[in-house]
Amino acid sequence: MRYSAFSILLNGLRGNASWKPAWREPAPKPHYDVVIVGGGGHGLATAYYLAKAFGIRNVAVLEKSYVGSGNVGRNTTIIRSNYLLPGNNPFYELSMKLWEGLEQDFNFNAMVSQRGVLNLCHSDAQRDAYTRRGNAMRLHGVDADLLDRAQVRTMLPFLDFDNARFPIKGGLLQRRGGTVRHDGVAWGYARGADAMGVDIIQNCEVTAIRRDNGKVTGVETSRGFIGCGKLAVAVAGNSSRVAEMVDMKLPIESHVLQAFVSEGLKPFIDCVVTFGAGHFYVSQSDKGGLVFGGDIDGYNSYAQRGNLATVEHVVEAGKAMIPALSRVRVLRAWGGIMDMSMDGTPIIDRTPIDNLYLNAGWCYGGFKATPGSGFCFAHLIAKDEPHQVTREMRLDRFARGYLVDEKGQGAQPNLH
Ligand SMILES: Cc1cc2nc3c(=O)[nH]c(=O)nc-3n(C[C@H](O)[C@H](O)[C@H](O)COP(=O)(O)OP(=O)(O)OC[C@H]3O[C@@H](n4cnc5c(N)ncnc54)[C@H](O)[C@@H]3O)c2cc1C
Repeated sequence: MRYSAFSILLNGLRGNASWKPAWREPAPKPHYDVVIVGGGGHGLATAYYLAKAFGIRNVAVLEKSYVGSGNVGRNTTIIRSNYLLPGNNPFYELSMKLWEGLEQDFNFNAMVSQRGVLNLCHSDAQRDAYTRRGNAMRLHGVDADLLDRAQVRTMLPFLDFDNARFPIKGGLLQRRGGTVRHDGVAWGYARGADAMGVDIIQNCEVTAIRRDNGKVTGVETSRGFIGCGKLAVAVAGNSSRVAEMVDMKLPIESHVLQAFVSEGLKPFIDCVVTFGAGHFYVSQSDKGGLVFGGDIDGYNSYAQRGNLATVEHVVEAGKAMIPALSRVRVLRAWGGIMDMSMDGTPIIDRTPIDNLYLNAGWCYGGFKATPGSGFCFAHLIAKDEPHQVTREMRLDRFARGYLVDEKGQGAQPNLH
C-alpha cells in the first residue's frame, strides 16, 4: 500500500478499516543469501539498500527485541555532515544527501527537518578551529557558515552571551543539518525493505555463529538455526558481544549515553544548538519538548540506563548556555548503549572470517549516518569491496596506525 494524501482520504472515508500492517511478521526460513543481525537503523537500512540498489532480496533482518528498541529509537535525532577529515566528510555528506530524498524514496514521513545545526564557539582558538573545519567542509562541497556574535544573537537571543567563563564569540552553522524523527526512520526502512521481500524477524536473538571450515554458514537463534550465505552484523552497542561469538576482539568499548526531554514549551529554539565549552546539544521537538543530551556516562556498561552524576553534568552545561533552562521541568530521561570506537570513527568492513561483515563503532553519531551506513554496508556485502567513501573505515586501521581521529583525542573511546 502506497502512502499518499489520497490514500489517507480514501481510508478515512472507509472508516480507516483497510490500513495494513506496515510490515509482515514472517517465520524465519531455513536459509537466506544474507542475514543481518540487528534491526536498528543501520541493519534495516542495509536490508533496504541491498534489495533496492543491489537487487539482493533473499535477506532476513534478525532483531532480538522489537524494531526501534535500540539506539535508533533512543537518540536525540540530530543529523549533520560538518566533519573535518577526508576519511569522514564524504561519507557523512553522502548520508546527508540520502536524508534529503529519503521520505520520497521509502514513501514514509520521517519528519526530516533541515533546521540548521549551530556549534557555538567561546574562544578565539575555538573560532580558528571552526574556521578550519568550515573551510574543509566547503572544500568538500558541504555548506558551512561562520557566524559572528551579533549574528548568533539575532538567531538565539536567549543564550548567555556574556557568561564570565564561557562568553559566546560566534558559531559554525550548517544550515542543511537538522533533525529527523528517529523511530520514523526505523519504521520507514522496515516497511520499505519488507515491501521488497526482506523478512524482518523480531524477537529473534542471535546466540551463536556457526562456522564450517572457517566460513560462517549461519546463526543459532532463539528461534532455531538460520543458514546464510553472508552474515552482516549491525548491532551497535552489542558489537563486542556478537564478535565474541567468533572469538573476535573489537577495538570498541560499550558505554551508556543518556538523553532527556522536557515538558512542552512554546517554540523558541528553531535549530539545533551545541555548547562549545562542554558537551551539550539541544533542539525543540515539534511537540514543544526540549530534546537534549551531553556526555557518555564514562564507564563500560550494557545497561540501557544511566546515572545521576551525568544528569547533573549535562544540566549544568545546558544552564551555562541557556540560563532560563533552570525553570524548565524534565519529563523523561533514558539511556542507550554506545559502541565507542578507539578513534571516534565507525567501522564498515569485512572481517578476517569468511562471509562475516561488520558495521560498528558509531559512538555518539550513528543516527545521522543511518542512510549512508546502510547504503555503503549493502555495497560492501553485494560487491565484496568497500564503497569509495568508506575506504578509511577499516577494521585493521588501528593495527596499521591509520586512525581517523576527527577530534584529535587519540585512542581513548571515553573522549570521543
Ligand atoms: C541517547 C542517545 C543520543 C544519541 N543522539 C544522536 C544524535 O543526535 N545524532 C546521531 O547521529 N546519533 C546519535 N546517537 C547515536 C545513534 O543513535 C547510534 O549510533 C545508532 O542508532 C546506532 O545504530 P543502530 O540504529 O543500528 O543501533 P540500534 O538501534 O541499537 O540497533 C542495534 C540492534 O541490534 C539488536 N541486537 C543486539 N544484539 C543482538 C543479537 N544478539 N541478536 C539480534 N539482535 C541483536 C539490538 O536489539 C538493536 O535493536 C545517540 C545515541 C543515544 C543512545
